[in-house]
Amino acid sequence: MSKMAVVVGLGFAGSVIARSLAEAGFEVTALEKRPHVAGNMYEHTRLNGVRVHNYGPHIFHTNNQQVYDYLKRFSDFYPYSHRVVGWIDGKLVPIPFNYTSIDSLFAPAKAAMLKDKLTKAFPGKEKCFISELVEHTDPDIKSLGNYIMDRVFVHYTAKQWGVPVEEVDKSVIDRVPVVLGTDDRYFRDTIQMMPIHGFTELFENMLSHPKINVQTNSDAMLRLALHESSGNILLDGAPFNGPVCYTGAIDELFNNEFGVLPYRSTNLVFEDIEKESYQSNSVINYPNSEEFTRITEFKLLTLQNVPDATTILKEYPTAYKPGSAISPFYPIANKSSLLTYEKYKDAASCYKDLYLCGRLAEYKYYNMDAVVERALQISRSIIESKRYK
Ligand code: UDP
Repeated sequence: MSKMAVVVGLGFAGSVIARSLAEAGFEVTALEKRPHVAGNMYEHTRLNGVRVHNYGPHIFHTNNQQVYDYLKRFSDFYPYSHRVVGWIDGKLVPIPFNYTSIDSLFAPAKAAMLKDKLTKAFPGKEKCFISELVEHTDPDIKSLGNYIMDRVFVHYTAKQWGVPVEEVDKSVIDRVPVVLGTDDRYFRDTIQMMPIHGFTELFENMLSHPKINVQTNSDAMLRLALHESSGNILLDGAPFNGPVCYTGAIDELFNNEFGVLPYRSTNLVFEDIEKESYQSNSVINYPNSEEFTRITEFKLLTLQNVPDATTILKEYPTAYKPGSAISPFYPIANKSSLLTYEKYKDAASCYKDLYLCGRLAEYKYYNMDAVVERALQISRSIIESKRYK
C-alpha cells in the first residue's frame, strides 16, 4: 500500500515538507485554508503591472548553501542585496546604523572620533548589538549607543510591537545590529538572491508534483480531529495512518485549550502611483515619525521595468485578534506566551504522527531560510523513520 501524508498550510514550512515527502514516495494531501498557496509569501500583480508581496516585503538571504540549492530547483534567482534607509533627524541614513550613518548625522570631527573609538573597542568585528554600545564603559560609545537606541529602536519598536522596547524580547531587537564599517546592506549573509518571477511561481513549481494533491480553500480544522485517548489523528472522520505535518497556529489546533497565543500583525496599505518612481530606496523606515513603520516600493525589489507606474506599501502595525480578517504575522515571545506554548507542545507530543513546523506551529520568529532548513530536517526525520517504511 502506498505511504500517505497530510500537510496543513502551504507557506514555506508546508510546501517544502510536501515536496520532500512526495519525492520520497508519499501520497501527500496538502490542505490550505486560504484560496492560494505560498502563505505569507504570496504575491499578485497590480493592474499597473507591478508585482507586490500581499503580506509585506520578503527578502531571501541565507548562509546555508543547502537551503539555497534546494530552492534553486524551483526558480531562477537574481542577486539582490537589500538596503534600507531611515529618516533620522531630517536625513535619510543607512539602517542598520553604520559608519555612513555616523558621518551623515555628526560633525566631521565628532564622527571621526566615534568611528575611531568603535573600531578600537570592537577590533576585527564587523557588527555589534545595540546593547553592547548602550552598556559600554566608554562614555562616548555609550552616548552614541543611547542616541542610536533612541533614533532607530525606541519609537519604531513601540509602533511595531505596541509596547516599550524594554518589554520586547532582546532577540527581536538584535535582528538589526549596528554595523562597524560602511557595509550598508540590511543583511550580511553570503547568499542574497530573489526568485526571478517571484515567490508565488517558486511555490507553484515546488508543489507541482504528481504525488501532491493541493486543496486550497480547505480548512484543516474542519477535516482533522485529534483523538486524545488513542493518540490518533482523524482525517475526515477516519484514523489517518501516516505523518500529519501541521504548520498552522498551534493554539487553533487544540481549540485554544491553554489560552490564545498573542501575535502582532500589520495593516497593509498599498498605493498605486502614476509616476516612474516614488522613493530613492526599496524600503525607507520611519523610526520616529508617521504611524506606519516603513514604506516599500516594490519595483525596486522585483527589479521590474514598469514605465510611469509604481506601487508602494505602508505598514501600520496592529494587534492581532483571532478570527479577524488580518493574519497573525509575528509571535510575541515573552515569559507567559512561551509558557503557554510549552503546554501546547507537550499536548502535541502525545500524537506520535504529528509534526509541527513553522512560525505559527512552533511559535517562533523564523526567517525564511531557517524555516526551509527546519522543514528539510523534519522531512528527513519522517522519511528515515521506521514508522513509515
Ligand atoms: N527595528 C527598529 N528600527 C528599525 C528596524 C527594526 O527598532 O528601523 C526593530 C523592531 O523592533 C523590529 C526588529 O528590529 O521589530 C526587527 O526588525 P526586522 O527588520 O528584522 O523586522 P521584519 O522585517 O521581520 O518586520
